[in-house]
Amino acid sequence: MLHHIAIVGSGPSGLFCADALLRQRPDLKIDVFDRLPTPYGLIRFGVAPDHQGTKAVTRQFDRLFGGGSLRFVGHVAVGTDLPLARLLETYDAVVLALGAHADRPLGVPGEELAGRYGSMAFVGWYNGHPDFRDLAPLLDRPAAAVIGQGNVAVDIARVLGKTAQEMAASDLTAHAMTAIGGAALSDIYMIGRRGPIEASFTSAELAELGRLENLRPVVAKADLPDNIPAGLDPAEARVKEKNLLLLHEFAARDDEKPVKLHFVFHRAPEAVLGSGRVEALKLKGSEAPLAAGTVVSAIGYRTETQGDLPRASERGVLANEEGRIAPGLYVVGWAKRGPSGTIPTNRAEAKAVADRILADFNGDETPAKAGSDAIDAMLKQQGLTAIDWSGWKRIEAAEAAAARQGSPREKLADWTGLRQAAAG
Ligand code: NAP
Repeated sequence: MLHHIAIVGSGPSGLFCADALLRQRPDLKIDVFDRLPTPYGLIRFGVAPDHQGTKAVTRQFDRLFGGGSLRFVGHVAVGTDLPLARLLETYDAVVLALGAHADRPLGVPGEELAGRYGSMAFVGWYNGHPDFRDLAPLLDRPAAAVIGQGNVAVDIARVLGKTAQEMAASDLTAHAMTAIGGAALSDIYMIGRRGPIEASFTSAELAELGRLENLRPVVAKADLPDNIPAGLDPAEARVKEKNLLLLHEFAARDDEKPVKLHFVFHRAPEAVLGSGRVEALKLKGSEAPLAAGTVVSAIGYRTETQGDLPRASERGVLANEEGRIAPGLYVVGWAKRGPSGTIPTNRAEAKAVADRILADFNGDETPAKAGSDAIDAMLKQQGLTAIDWSGWKRIEAAEAAAARQGSPREKLADWTGLRQAAAG
């Protein structure tokens, strides 16, 4: 019998899965665990601070938490604080919605130098992730390089290039706003190891770069083909065609702006150079190193796990068969398929995994396991203080109260502050 479900991770894939389960079985009791005191995972810490529209999906999730069947169990790290084995004993099904929190390594000499950051850390820093609050990235030279040409690289370039006024209505944290405002960057390089057609950014995100107050995209016309190659699938061809058109428009521009965003194609990183800190980036096929005081690699993520959680494969995902890891144990989202797609991609995928869970339990007559009550007793016994939905609501209220004019929130970005606000 299926009655109590634990979902580990309160990002979009976990919450879409909860939604799909409850739509079909409103009688289920679902506990959503998160290592952080705050829900929403990638929506809070990954989505760019100036893309508030993308974050609106949380309203749907809030309604779900208000419905009485879904509980938030924040500030509990499954695997270490609370072993997965305990969850498997206590819940009829456990869904791992862990996301992908580790930066793919760049794998070149010098990547350990101060001033080189992975996008998880860098984006986490400006988005107020408590693990990265104190990153204090070096932003003291006129040039910065972002490696990768996906939407994360575009986010980083845009956040670095926007003015304080353009960011006023965002929830960019005050510490990042001050650091970026004081950085005086004049050149940002966005570096792709392949060409303009292969770049994985999407058109809306690319177009946004052409509308910024202080930043001009710089593209060499010689790097651009006239047309997209034949034989692409139609959906992909539409994106590539639009991208190419935008890149041609950028190449035709010669307006003066204080910050230039240079699109560099066909250049893989060879080494990060500097003595004691990042000073330049050596690119394969280029004679002279590119002077830059900051290098951010935005080259994708891997799932990494601690304690008794299953380990990720070479590819950085948890081995699974259509979402099933073992009887009673499932996986959704980036931990299942890798770091691809947009937030809505998770809706359909999480629904498929929810269907799979319900099908697996169809006709199962085993008595339902103990669920929440047993877990609460276990947490108490271990001296763990979970942060529940009302604790999160207190954090949310404190953040709204601290927001600068026009911004929805000033995120609490340190562990102590979060715990104190949750406790009221
Ligand atoms: P991504 O789209 O996979 O882009 C990764 C980039 O890194 C690619 O340009 C890739 O080049 C490059 N790369 C990988 N390994 C490299 C290496 N060793 N050296 C140099 N370059 C390397 O991933 P992402 O930007 O991290 O985004 C993750 C997902 O989130 C994507 O699906 C993205 O669309 C989504 N997202 C969406 C939005 C939005 O909708 N606004 C915003 C942010 C993220 P190759 O192509 O050559 O591998």
